[in-house]
Amino acid sequence: MLRQVYSTTRPGWRSPTRILLPVGLVTLVAIVLAAFSLFWAVRQSNDVSVERQIRTTERSIQAVVSELAQQQEMVAVWDDAVEKLREPQLDFDWLDANMGIWLHRTFGQDQVYILNERNEPVDAMIGGERVPVSEFGLIRPSLNSFIRDIRQTADEHGGHGHERAGSSYLTTGKAVHDAHVIQLLGRPAAVSVMKIVRESDDIPQEPGTEPLLVSVRFLDDTFPKQLAERNLIEGLHFSSSNLPRPGEVSVPLKSDYGDTIGYFIWKPELPGSKILKVIGPSTALVCALMIVVMGWLVRSLRSSMARLESTVVELRASEAHAQHLAFHDVLTGLPNRALFDDRLDRALSRSAGGEKSALLMLDLDRFKNVNDTLGHQAGDNLIRELAGRLSGLVRTHDTVARLGGDEFAILLFDIGGRTDVEVLCSRIFDAVHQPFDLLGSQAFVGVSIGIVMMPDEGVDRIDLLRKADIALYHAKNDGRGCHRYFELCMDEDVKRRATIEEELREALETGDSLKVHYQPQVAAAGRPVIGLEALIRWQHPTRGLIAPDQFLPIAEDTGLIVPLGDMVLRHVCATSKRWPNLFIAINLSPAQFRSNGFAERIVKIVRECGADPRKIELEVTENVLLGDKLTRDALRKLRSSGFRIALDDFGSGHSSLSYLRRYEVDKIKIDRSFVQHLGHTADADSAAIIKAITTLGQTIGLTVTAEGVETEDQRRFLETTGCMELQGHLFAKALPEDRIAGLMASDMRARPSART
Ligand code: C2E
Ligand code: CA
Ligand code: CA
Repeated sequence: MLRQVYSTTRPGWRSPTRILLPVGLVTLVAIVLAAFSLFWAVRQSNDVSVERQIRTTERSIQAVVSELAQQQEMVAVWDDAVEKLREPQLDFDWLDANMGIWLHRTFGQDQVYILNERNEPVDAMIGGERVPVSEFGLIRPSLNSFIRDIRQTADEHGGHGHERAGSSYLTTGKAVHDAHVIQLLGRPAAVSVMKIVRESDDIPQEPGTEPLLVSVRFLDDTFPKQLAERNLIEGLHFSSSNLPRPGEVSVPLKSDYGDTIGYFIWKPELPGSKILKVIGPSTALVCALMIVVMGWLVRSLRSSMARLESTVVELRASEAHAQHLAFHDVLTGLPNRALFDDRLDRALSRSAGGEKSALLMLDLDRFKNVNDTLGHQAGDNLIRELAGRLSGLVRTHDTVARLGGDEFAILLFDIGGRTDVEVLCSRIFDAVHQPFDLLGSQAFVGVSIGIVMMPDEGVDRIDLLRKADIALYHAKNDGRGCHRYFELCMDEDVKRRATIEEELREALETGDSLKVHYQPQVAAAGRPVIGLEALIRWQHPTRGLIAPDQFLPIAEDTGLIVPLGDMVLRHVCATSKRWPNLFIAINLSPAQFRSNGFAERIVKIVRECGADPRKIELEVTENVLLGDKLTRDALRKLRSSGFRIALDDFGSGHSSLSYLRRYEVDKIKIDRSFVQHLGHTADADSAAIIKAITTLGQTIGLTVTAEGVETEDQRRFLETTGCMELQGHLFAKALPEDRIAGLMASDMRARPSART
């Protein structure tokens, strides 16, 4: 489960570039395509237009010769002209008006000559004016061959046109001419020679006597203008050399001999470019707008994507943080119980395959002391420091977890066996026993460890944790500061304890099976009964009478000791009122002192019962005096309320004498074991110890009591030592209250039978 939680899969969302790139590309391609299409259309349209203009110009140039002939034909095939030219005295006015000058004015012919049958010029016109006929001499050399040809043509072809290389003959009806494009007087010119013939047969005309009409049209002067007007081509001009400026086109003009004699040059009309000029700016504007809009879109998309991304990153970070918090202890950063459970499950599944691992449950001893005396801040520091020390002891693949409070757990994966655990435990003890520097003072704590080996002790997590807790409990019970492996018998013990706990709870509720017995305490001198010790008994319905050793530790662990203690105290109060001359001792365990408002409650109960606290002796063990500040405060409060304090089982524990010197107690009860060893050679020290304690008590003014007195020898020894009070089976066992009365009446010395 946790493995899934820790997975780092990213949710499938697109990055801005993954969206923006294709969109931007598509837009760019669209713009480029549109621009390309536009320019292609413009180019096509321009090309077509240029092509058309070139072809039109070429056609016009080709047509110039035939047009010249057609113009000539209008006057050359004419009866009147034939007749007028036969007259001996030529009528030049008529000739000008109807032929030379007319052709110039009407068709723009530059030069017109009329030749007689001997090919001599009889009339000449240049630029629309009559000139001397001698002018023909200038151009005759260039025309001689045409004149000769046309004279022969009529004879050969009888009026039918044909083509010959370098010249053309044309006949339309009666007209016969020979027309050419040539270089004339250094200029390009269309030249046509035509016979002047009768129109009808009304007048006679001898073949070979026909006069000739010669027309010249220069192509470099008015012709280009006319060409431009006719074909709607602006700026067309002639140039002898082909030097078009950029953007201009040219069409060559070839003479009939095939040589190029010049060029017509012009700047072609480009409709595509015109359209482009009109729609270009608006199209560019639209494109620019599109790019701007795209840019804006990209920007805003980018920024929202960036925002989204940063939100996702933040979310992920807080998710990771939450995850960490969910599975780690805040104070130490160690895995918490949830993560530890997961790791334990993993260890179990691996140990199912035969791998050995171990679970160590750790609990600090005396940690509460640190918290109580140095404060919680110091306690936190200690836990943190300890977490660091523990983490340093294990391998990286092992787990150290904090389960709460001063409870830690360690999981050792893949180990050889108990030897590895032993090594770690001794390291843990070493590490824990190093002093902790806390807020300027040093603190010492201990640790108890409960251990479960896997797979030996099962494969169920809950069961293993329970077993580790049991082992830990045993480690603590066996004096703390040690480690214990879980064993099957521990489990049985736990079951037994659980049963006892349940039954004890019931007994406390009903209250009739729990009895308080009293064991008398006698004065050494004269041995009258001077006091009683209240000792609890449990009359179990099936198991019979159960001694306190069997159920008191359970009552202490489960907190049942508190109501139990209260019950005994009420009993003691009642008994105390009945025997006002005796003091009555009651046993108090450390667990009772740890309960809330313990001292106040004791005082209150005694007051409620109307008993005298000065007649009640509180028996405590060294643990109480060594306990935390709260415990010692409570004890002091009780003592100042009038209760006498007796130190029970003296000599069995730490035997620190410092509290005796601080006058915190009124009485010492020498532990039973010393008395019982009296007279045994194996333990000669006991007598010496008893002697020392008695002397000490006398010195500092404490009453000294010996308990567990069973024999006359013991009694005698104790009396000679100076022990003031005695208690033991020699005088009486613990008895029900109603049997105390009879006992009181008799002399204890005279009643040795009381032992039974
Ligand atoms: P303790 O306070 O040391 O009580 C004296 C124990 O020694 C009693 O055992 C008593 O029966 C036993 N005893 C007295 N004289 C002799 C003797 O001559 N020979 C031998 N062998 N034993 C003798 P008990 O009644 O079993 O009590 C055991 C312990 O349980 C007590 O030890 C006391 O610490 C605790 N206890 C008993 N009653 C109460 C109680 O009401 N409250 C608390 N907190 N503890 C109690
Ligand atoms: Ca006692
Ligand atoms: Ca005792």
